[in-house]
Amino acid sequence: MTAPRLDIRVDEAARRITLVGRIDDNAVLTAVPPQLPAGPVTIDTSGVTFINSIGMREWIRLIRLLHDRGDQITLERVADVLITQMNLIPEFRDRVRIASFHAQYLCGSCGAEAAPVVDAIAHAGELAETRAPRLPCPECGQAMELGDFPERYLMLFSRR
Ligand SMILES: [Zn+2]
Repeated sequence: MTAPRLDIRVDEAARRITLVGRIDDNAVLTAVPPQLPAGPVTIDTSGVTFINSIGMREWIRLIRLLHDRGDQITLERVADVLITQMNLIPEFRDRVRIASFHAQYLCGSCGAEAAPVVDAIAHAGELAETRAPRLPCPECGQAMELGDFPERYLMLFSRR
């Protein structure tokens, strides 16, 4: 028995969908909305490690299905691999509220790399100006900076 490549957990009481694993050719996300009555929904993708182009199409279908039936969609702890892909597709701007996301950070002081969660609500002002907030390094406590072009992560938040 091989483990499923994508683990989909739907918590009806909490109105929460949690995805863990790979969103690829084997992922069927369109089966998710019927498992949850319409209403506000939170999707956590912190455990997503990989997404390919077919998986991305499936993710877009999932968001459309939820959006088209009137669900208010909040994304929490969006995986690094997913937020960079979503930034290439402007339609997400109007369809989801991103509460937080993972991003690749680098520490200039000690060289540590990390993928911390960026709180998009607390840092909304900086993100709207396409600036990534500095975050404390887990190794040395100094300020870490985004280790990539801000546009790869922040176009969805930009008000420019
Ligand atoms: Zn450091």
